Amino acid sequence: MPAPADADRFRRWLEIAAEEARTGLAEGGIPIGAALIGRDGEVLGRGRNRRVQDGDPSVHAETAAFRAAGRQRGYTGTTMVTTLSPCWYCSGLVRQFGISRLVVGEARTFAGGHDWLAEHGTEVVVLDDPDCAAMMAGFIRARPRLWHEDIGAEE
Ligand SMILES: [Zn+2]
Repeated sequence: MPAPADADRFRRWLEIAAEEARTGLAEGGIPIGAALIGRDGEVLGRGRNRRVQDGDPSVHAETAAFRAAGRQRGYTGTTMVTTLSPCWYCSGLVRQFGISRLVVGEARTFAGGHDWLAEHGTEVVVLDDPDCAAMMAGFIRARPRLWHEDIGAEE
């Protein structure tokens, strides 16, 4: 578990991602949010899954936050915070660009690539946040087909 001061910081960042997720849910989308945080704790970019809103399956929360941050000289010291364990596509993004740290809201409803990232040197913190898990579980129950579409699982 992170030191208390870090845990507070991580929770504040997670709240930004969760706000994006709630906005996405209100828009009729998939409630996953993310933010890219700079070395000094500044928000470089934030975003949410917009598969439904934009009709674009490549707009995941993490890619939206990454793109919103625009061009960066490097990603050393940056943190990707996301409400849900990242899928392979987004885990690949974190690894490709050398984002130093990944903060995950929860990995109960979906376990993506966070263990793989940890094995390859990314600092990974799973907060196991009950609110994030409840929002995702409620969504999966309500809209299973949309969820399976998003994670590429055939039914
Ligand atoms: Zn993804």
